[in-house]
Amino acid sequence: MDKMKAYVFKDVGNLVYEEKPIPHVKDPDDVLLKVKAVGICGSDIKIIEGKHHFRPNTVLGHEFCGEVIEVGTHVHHFKIGDRVAIDNNIRCGFCSFCRMGLSSQCVEIKTSALGVMRDGGYAEYCLVPEKQCFVLPDGIGDILGTQVETLATVVNGMNTLLMLPYDYVLILGFGPIGYLFSQFAKNIAAKVAVTEIDPFRINVAKECGLTVWNPNEVDIEQKITEFTYGRKADIVIEATGNAIEQALKCVTPGGKLLPFGMDSSITASIIPNDITRWATKILGLYLGQNTMVPSIRIYQENRLNMGPFFTKVIPFDEGLGAFDLLGLDMKTLKHHPKSAMKIVMKM
Ligand SMILES: [Zn+2]
Ligand SMILES: [Zn+2]
Repeated sequence: MDKMKAYVFKDVGNLVYEEKPIPHVKDPDDVLLKVKAVGICGSDIKIIEGKHHFRPNTVLGHEFCGEVIEVGTHVHHFKIGDRVAIDNNIRCGFCSFCRMGLSSQCVEIKTSALGVMRDGGYAEYCLVPEKQCFVLPDGIGDILGTQVETLATVVNGMNTLLMLPYDYVLILGFGPIGYLFSQFAKNIAAKVAVTEIDPFRINVAKECGLTVWNPNEVDIEQKITEFTYGRKADIVIEATGNAIEQALKCVTPGGKLLPFGMDSSITASIIPNDITRWATKILGLYLGQNTMVPSIRIYQENRLNMGPFFTKVIPFDEGLGAFDLLGLDMKTLKHHPKSAMKIVMKM
């Protein structure tokens, strides 16, 4: 049987580069992809640390694109040779949430995600249901093609926020998600500032021409108050998962707060009375939702400055080294300062 290389998550703290049999289409709705490139996501790091739901013995990788090389007998919308981006979150299409237009709350969403609960794109080949595939136009290369799903989550956030040209926007956390939101805010809003603690990412923010503050060095509430002439932010995007208390202090009366970053180990203490008194709109959302096609359009029309977003493109067999650049010591699972924004492995 022919073999392929893959990074298999064996269990917490244990990601192994090994050979596996190349899969072939069995389910008539599946296509087999030859993976072209795959991005390393912060949630992959959380999986390795055991801080995200996971399934042992799964090939990780949910930010990927590839070429269709086999199709099941029910596949009618894609053909061999198509280059496609992937929505890794498989929605059943039949539960009441799916059928009422809230597919990100699908009852099966946590049971089947590619690269989390079934084999994903940290491999030379990957089986993908046809309905998860989206054709990439020639104008979007393989590296950018890995980031369609990432952008789709942010576009879902933008759809919910309805950002206006006179909004003051504050983004807490300048990882890949904060980066993408900041690009939209620069295009749309009156003024935008971001926060970040990591020196490498602070420099990326500066390179993008953004106002950036380190919450370990300055008082963010005071900074945003000065920045907005006493108003505070109309929109606060919390992209760290651990700063909702800070976010509530920085949002203007009647303003919107988007809790976007995820960290299930964090608890917070809030004053419910303040949310009512200051008419704060807290807008929870999860994943992308009908936002893959809009994201492809945004990339195709070059609407975002993606230059400083990609720190490194590395050969597929050097993937284990990338986690160190992203701040995780794979031996001890301890964190150190990051020296990257987004790293993509190229086949
Ligand atoms: Zn991701
Ligand atoms: Zn469903």
